[in-house]
Amino acid sequence: MSSSTQSDSHLDALIIGAGFAGLYQLHSLRDRLGMRAQVLEAGDGVGGTWYWNRYPGARCDSESHSYMFYFDERLVQGWEWSQRYPGQPEILRYLNFVTDTLDLRRDITFNARVNGAEWDEANRLWHVRTEDGRQISARYLVSAVGCLSSANLPQIAGLEDFQGDWYHTGQWPHEGVDFTGKRVGVIGTGATGIQAIPVIAQTAAQVTVFQRTANYSIPARNQPLTPEFKREIKENATEIYATMRKATNGHAFLIDDRLAVATPEEDRQEIYDKAWEVGGLRFRAVFKDILVDQAANDTAADYIKDKIRQMVKDPKKAEVLADIDHPFAAKRPPIDTNYFDVYNRDNVGLVDLRATPIERITQAGIRTSDQEHPLDIIVFATGFDAMTGGLFKLNITGSGGRKLKDYWYAGPRTNLGLQVPGFPNLFTITGPGSPSVLCNLPPQIEQHVEWITECLKTMQAKGADRIETTEDAAEQWGEEVERAARATLLFGVKHSWYLGANVPGKPRVFMPYAGGFDRYQKICDQVAADGYKGFAIS
Ligand code: NAP
Repeated sequence: MSSSTQSDSHLDALIIGAGFAGLYQLHSLRDRLGMRAQVLEAGDGVGGTWYWNRYPGARCDSESHSYMFYFDERLVQGWEWSQRYPGQPEILRYLNFVTDTLDLRRDITFNARVNGAEWDEANRLWHVRTEDGRQISARYLVSAVGCLSSANLPQIAGLEDFQGDWYHTGQWPHEGVDFTGKRVGVIGTGATGIQAIPVIAQTAAQVTVFQRTANYSIPARNQPLTPEFKREIKENATEIYATMRKATNGHAFLIDDRLAVATPEEDRQEIYDKAWEVGGLRFRAVFKDILVDQAANDTAADYIKDKIRQMVKDPKKAEVLADIDHPFAAKRPPIDTNYFDVYNRDNVGLVDLRATPIERITQAGIRTSDQEHPLDIIVFATGFDAMTGGLFKLNITGSGGRKLKDYWYAGPRTNLGLQVPGFPNLFTITGPGSPSVLCNLPPQIEQHVEWITECLKTMQAKGADRIETTEDAAEQWGEEVERAARATLLFGVKHSWYLGANVPGKPRVFMPYAGGFDRYQKICDQVAADGYKGFAIS
């Protein structure tokens, strides 16, 4: 490691992105290892995902007491969430509280969008450029750009002709959008659309939902937190965090040990009824075979489809909404507040794009194969170029001129989702190949940040300053990622963004690690205990 004096012309570490990951990484490298570390952030404030995703109804689907950092007592005891699920403005306030409590702002450069990074082997440095011409060099480069930061705007002919306004949910205007009296079209019924549609419908004159793939959703049952619950969280923080770290998905609850297929039908119904009342992502945790056994999954899927038919009064709409073609939770399962109920409002219409596909966008609205739908505003709730899109936008070139985009032409190739062969000293927090989007993100981020920090500390102690994972290790890890995915029902859903299917031309490779956060951590710990096996350190 270079000596870290103020006269050095380069940093020890440069971190890209000031969301959960970038903030903690800055703190841990600067304040624990004494490194000269800085963050470059494209936005004009901290928050990452929660800075950009300001669409109506934006709220986290993880319960608030699990959607926070636990690594520092001040961050646990000094913060109080107001609701079961935190809304976007509250999460943004929380991340500002983290920033100020840890005194991070002085080492973050805002309005600095990275558009190039090159590895300089001779000097063992990363040279990083920003869009506005800044150049910064650093020994280590850490991507904290998140998994869902590159908006996916579908290439639908005619958008440039549209006379109204249009927005992507992931790039929402800070001043908000006034839907009052407007005719609004929403494309997309993933976790985002399902949150946004009921809120937009409250003020819009008319909402037309363009649904391509019908989706499951579980009622969130959001509510204000009681003073007793808030006190319990603080008193039991250690136990809560221990549960999150040993859970398959990083939530503050474990998956039940019983099998749906071995449970008598009457009991199963009662279990689902209770879970439906409790609401949220806990629904999928009531049986351990839901994600691995089609017969078990069918019991959950049928239960939810029945609920949809009961909730939606118009039988035609109900059929289109309940006509779901994939297993429950094999795509990311949304949770909602009044989603299916919204279709009982007179001002909400539903277009089944499987029956009547979009032909083009016109000056006046959206034309499907059977009619034109006149619109004042189009909302694209069409998701992201997930996991790899944000990394590609950095234009990273590794050793020997290797470009990340070329190297990953057939799909991402990483060791543990943390490093890429040919890209020395680059770490990718929640990168492809890690549990990432299959996990509640704050604990997964804490685990990644701590693994990277421990690794660099070990290198510091040895006087080493170069680390690169090997091709063999990445090959083996890729096989494990595929094996883990194939063992679940997630692998079979051909139109899932987990497989890159939402972006035309993107290779179909299952990107997140589906083997469980608990198992993944053990593997990472073992790699470290074995002297960072699979990583060449010099
Ligand atoms: P998404 O899950 O990718 O959903 C995008 C929707 O747009 C899908 O219904 C998709 O249909 C549709 N779509 C895409 N291109 C289309 C086209 N050309 N024509 C018609 N429909 C099209 O995106 P998202 O809802 O933004 O969610 C992405 C992820 O963000 C979630 O899975 C979750 O991990 C995260 N998220 C989290 C929260 C939270 O915690 N609160 C909230 C929102 C999102 P198909 O299904 O047919 O592709």
